[in-house]
Amino acid sequence: MKIISFTLLCAFYILFTAEADAQNTKSVSSPDGNLEIRVSVSNGKAQYAVHYQDVVMLENSPLGLVTNEGDFTSNMSFVDASTDEIKKNYSQDKIKASSVQYMANTLAYTVSNQEEKQITFHFQVSDHDIAFRYELPKWGDTRATVVERELTGFRFPLATTAFLSSMMKPMTGFARTAPSYESGYVTDAALESTTARFGYVFPGLFKVGEDGWVLLSETGVGSNYNGAHLSSFQDGMYTVEYPQMEQNNGFGSTGAQIGLPGFTPWRTITVGKTLKPIVETTIPFDVVEPLYEASQAYQYGKGTWSWIVWQDNSMNYEDQVKYIDLAAAMDFEYILIDAWWDERIGYKKMEELIQYANSKNVDVFLWYNSNGTANDAFQTPLNKMNTSIARKKEMKWLKEAGVKGLKVDFFGGDKQETMRLYEDILVDANDHGLMVIFHGTTLPRGWEKMYPNFVGSEAVLASEMLIFSQGVRENEAFYASLHPFIRNAVGSMEFGGVLLNKFLNRGNERGQERLTTDSFQLATGVLFQNPVQMFGLTPNNLTDVPEFELEFLRELPTTWDETVFIDGYPGKYSVLARRSGKKWYIAGVNAENAAKTLKINLPMLKGQEVSLYNDDKERQPTLQTVKVGKNGELTVTVQSRGGFVLTH
Ligand code: CA
Repeated sequence: MKIISFTLLCAFYILFTAEADAQNTKSVSSPDGNLEIRVSVSNGKAQYAVHYQDVVMLENSPLGLVTNEGDFTSNMSFVDASTDEIKKNYSQDKIKASSVQYMANTLAYTVSNQEEKQITFHFQVSDHDIAFRYELPKWGDTRATVVERELTGFRFPLATTAFLSSMMKPMTGFARTAPSYESGYVTDAALESTTARFGYVFPGLFKVGEDGWVLLSETGVGSNYNGAHLSSFQDGMYTVEYPQMEQNNGFGSTGAQIGLPGFTPWRTITVGKTLKPIVETTIPFDVVEPLYEASQAYQYGKGTWSWIVWQDNSMNYEDQVKYIDLAAAMDFEYILIDAWWDERIGYKKMEELIQYANSKNVDVFLWYNSNGTANDAFQTPLNKMNTSIARKKEMKWLKEAGVKGLKVDFFGGDKQETMRLYEDILVDANDHGLMVIFHGTTLPRGWEKMYPNFVGSEAVLASEMLIFSQGVRENEAFYASLHPFIRNAVGSMEFGGVLLNKFLNRGNERGQERLTTDSFQLATGVLFQNPVQMFGLTPNNLTDVPEFELEFLRELPTTWDETVFIDGYPGKYSVLARRSGKKWYIAGVNAENAAKTLKINLPMLKGQEVSLYNDDKERQPTLQTVKVGKNGELTVTVQSRGGFVLTH
């Protein structure tokens, strides 16, 4: 008898809970109906799940956070939910597309904790993207809080594999400048194997068995928050993790200080049956707005920089003249003059050098150390960007001298402390008509739209490591084949590539041998997107590479109206198309050990005669005219560690 009533009790309990769960489960679908998010509270815990065409892409995954004014991780109860829709169009001159239409259905889901403090989960679901964030209202008289950590998780189905770049150990590497988003990648890795001690940087790519692809990232982070990342895989999932305490030499909090009402940043989930929605996503920009107006119309373009191949020894007046002349001969708009210019050229001579550059129709970017208090990076100019007093004085000189942009290097980490420094540099630079490139840096999180004078961040194992490391040279094609699907899918990537020296040094006769072909290098000029491209050409390239390669680079745009996924598999090969005005560029690279013959579909070039930059079997550059089939089909062979570009 006792047993029966216990069983009955259990049955009632389960029935009751299931009914309560069903009642508080709210879902919202994308405008095309394919992507769906389901939010619920179960046993006092808030959770969400993601389905695409009714297939699970994320299983029930936790929502919640801990603040110093309240815990929102357990004993939660459902309050209410509402849905709405958003439609907006915007234009952008420095991302993968110039004109974007954003349509999403929204769900606002409010819960309260044991103390009856509320928070709201905001979801926006467009056809291939989910963006979500937490809203923290004013709690009585409480107008400020510190968010200490988050529960936000991502629980993938069992068959999923991961494509991830690990977070670097704080205060390690060159002059204790890590972390700076310059690790390699694991590809197609079993989730259980992704246990890097410091987690993984955004964005992270996941292949959900044969069901599709998911890209996780974060956007809308300025001075308002810290930069988060993915934890290592534990308890069957990844969670949103805040910066490690050890960053910035242990100084500054790991959480975020926000005023109420306030929001966490947007976390984004891009979902597709194929990789097309991943390559083409604009979600980092769809959900953010400009934070100030551009002080002027900024001009993007191409530049030369001596440091990448000729290194520190080129930091003298005469060598910089050679690179200004190279920029002029290439019809490039810019020269970037890198570290040590203040000591080895000097401010007075720099004014002369800028005038010389201007006389050749070339404008100047100058390098700065962001330090310093965050690490041991010693390259000068130092102590010019990290306080508003020094920065404004320096920028006054920069404006008077006619400098058009800055490259600021060696940042401390992802704490809110450092995010405030990025924003302070950007806003002061805009007041002085300066564009900004960041190196030794975090991922830009919506910055192209938020900050009108921001023109790109490194945040990748970039061209400098091709000079320094044989291992990176051997993996150059492998990494290049990943970027369109991962790093460059969510933000401009200041890679500093297109290296045409056979040997990546000043002599160009022996030493650091380039293992990729010339056409591979040209292809990266299209594949890697950044509105200002500093190319790794050297003055000798004017006479030692075929004229058609130089002509290609003279014509190459750096801003795009449209980007289209054509073919590829991250880590193996990658082909995409970009359009500038009426002109299409289709570029591909092959990271595999054997030549690859691809039958690609190019509806935009149906029946047209086009120029094909490619490699022959001896890996020498070729230029030929080919005709795309009336059905848009074209067969092209790509050499191992080679590449191609098609244009018309
Ligand atoms: Ca770097």
